[in-house]
Amino acid sequence: MDPIRIAVVGVGKIARDQHLPAIAGNKAFSLAATVSPHDAGVEGVSHHKSLDELIENGPAVDAVALCTPPQVRYDLAVQALNKGMHVFLEKPPGATLSECVALSSRAEKVGTTLFAAWHSRFAAGVAPARAWLAERRIESVKIVWREDVRVWHPGQAWIWEPGGLGVFDPGINALSILTHILPRPVFLKTATLEIPANRAAPIAADIQFRDTAGAPIHMDLDWRQTGPQSWDIVVETDAGTLKLSNGGAVLTLPTGAEHSEDLEYPGLYARFANLIRGGRSDVDIAPLRLVADAFLRGNRQTVDAFHD
Ligand code: NAP
Repeated sequence: MDPIRIAVVGVGKIARDQHLPAIAGNKAFSLAATVSPHDAGVEGVSHHKSLDELIENGPAVDAVALCTPPQVRYDLAVQALNKGMHVFLEKPPGATLSECVALSSRAEKVGTTLFAAWHSRFAAGVAPARAWLAERRIESVKIVWREDVRVWHPGQAWIWEPGGLGVFDPGINALSILTHILPRPVFLKTATLEIPANRAAPIAADIQFRDTAGAPIHMDLDWRQTGPQSWDIVVETDAGTLKLSNGGAVLTLPTGAEHSEDLEYPGLYARFANLIRGGRSDVDIAPLRLVADAFLRGNRQTVDAFHD
C-alpha cells in the first residue's frame, strides 16, 4: 500500500518535538511538505509559507496535520477538507465548539477523515486505567495539573489570547484523560478562573465537577508552579486508589505501579492511519466542552500581571 503523503502545517514546538519524529517513524506516512509562515521547514522537504501556496504550487498531499495555534485552525481545516485531504487536528480541535461541529459535518460531506487528536489519551497508563475503572464505583477524583508556563510555553503570545485557553491549554489534556477513563459523563458545577491583569486567559483555575452518579471531581490548574511539576489524577474507588501520574505515563493501582514507554504521538499517528484506511473520523469534543463550560460558568478573579 502506498504511504499517505502528509504535510505538517505550523512548524513550531509540537511539530518539531513530536509530529516530525512520529511521521518519520511510521511507514504508513511519508512527509510530503511543510507549511509555516516563518519557519524554514525541513531540509529536503518541499516548504511553503501558506496552505494556499502548498495547494497552488506544491506536491500532491493526501493529508495534513494542523499543528498551528487553535485560533487559525478552522479555516485551514476547511480548506484542506474541501481539497479532499484527511485532517489531523492538534488539541484543542478548535477555538470554539461550533467550529468543531461544523468541521465534523464538512468531513462527513466530503468523505475524508477528520481526527481530533488527544495525545494524553495515548499515554501508557491511560488505557489500563480506563479498563480498571470500568468495573469500579467512583467515589471521588482529584486532578492536580501544575506547571511552569515559562518553561513550557516561553513567548507563546497566542496562548494568552482569546481562544488560546491559557492554563486550560495543558489542563485540557487532564480533561481528555478524565473523560476517557471515567465510566460516567462529567459536568461542571463551579469554577474560579484567575486571569492576570494584562492577559485575556487564565493563569490558574479551581474547578469542581461531578459525574452523573454524584462523585465529586476537583481540578487544580496552575501555571505558576516552579520546581517539581505535577500532572496527576487520583481516583478513589470502592476497590482502592488509582493514580495516574506524569501526565498519564505512570499508572499506580492498589496492586503496584506500572510504567511503560511514552508512545503518545506514535499512537496518534497509528490511529490516524487506521482511520484513513477505514474511511472513518474521530472527533470527540468532550474535553473542549468542559473547558467551554468553565469559561461559561466560571467566576473570574483578576490577579497580578504576568510577564514572560
Ligand atoms: P508554537 O510553538 O507557537 O507553534 C505553532 C506554529 O504555528 C508557529 O510556529 C507558526 O509558525 C505556525 N502558524 C501560525 N499560524 C499559521 C498559519 N496560519 N498557517 C501555518 N502555520 C501557522 O505552538 P505549539 O506549542 O507547537 O502548539 C501548537 C498546538 O499544539 C497548540 O494547539 C497546542 O495546544 C498543541 N500542543 C502543544 C504542545 C507543546 O508541548 N507545546 C503539546 C501538545 C499539543 P511560524 O513560526 O512559521 O510563524
